[in-house]
Amino acid sequence: MVNDFVTGKLACPRAERIIPNIRRLARAARGAGVPVIYVNDAHLPTDFELKVWGPHSMQGTPGGEVIPALKARRGDSVLEKRTYSAFFETSLDTLLRSFRAENLVIVGLHTNICARHTSADAFFRGYHPVIPEDGVESFTEDAHRDGLDYIKTNYLGEITATSELARTWR
Ligand code: ZN
Repeated sequence: MVNDFVTGKLACPRAERIIPNIRRLARAARGAGVPVIYVNDAHLPTDFELKVWGPHSMQGTPGGEVIPALKARRGDSVLEKRTYSAFFETSLDTLLRSFRAENLVIVGLHTNICARHTSADAFFRGYHPVIPEDGVESFTEDAHRDGLDYIKTNYLGEITATSELARTWR
C-alpha cells in the first residue's frame, strides 16, 4: 500500500475501500501481539518487472512510501521486495520462521498479482494463506474475484473478512 499503487503512477481508485479495513486489522493485530510485516515494492531501474508496468514504487522515492494512513508503527517489520511475491529473494521466510508462523494473512494490492504470487510462495513453503477479501483489491472487480478464486483453488487459501480476523484476535 505505497503511494504509487494507491494514488500515484499505478493509481487504483478501488484501493480506497480497503484502507480503513487494513488499518483496523493492523491495529487489532498489534493489540493481540500478532506480528505486522510490511513488504513493499522498492524497485531499482533495471528490475525485470518494470518492463511490464513501467517505473513505479522506485526505491527511496515518495511513490515507494507507504500511504500516510497505513504507516508502520514501532514493533512492525518492514521489508523491501523487487517483484510480485513478498517471498522472492526477501527475508520474509526467515522472519516468519522466527515467529513460528503457520498462517499468513495477506492484505494490500493487487489480489490477482502480488497477493496471488505471495500466496503461492506461502503455500509452497508450508504456510496457510489467509486472505480477507475486504483487505485486498485489484483494478477491476473481475480481476479481484479471479485472484481470490485462484488463491482459494490452487493454494487452499482461506477467504475471510478483516472483521472476522480481528474478532478471532480479541
Ligand atoms: Zn512492482
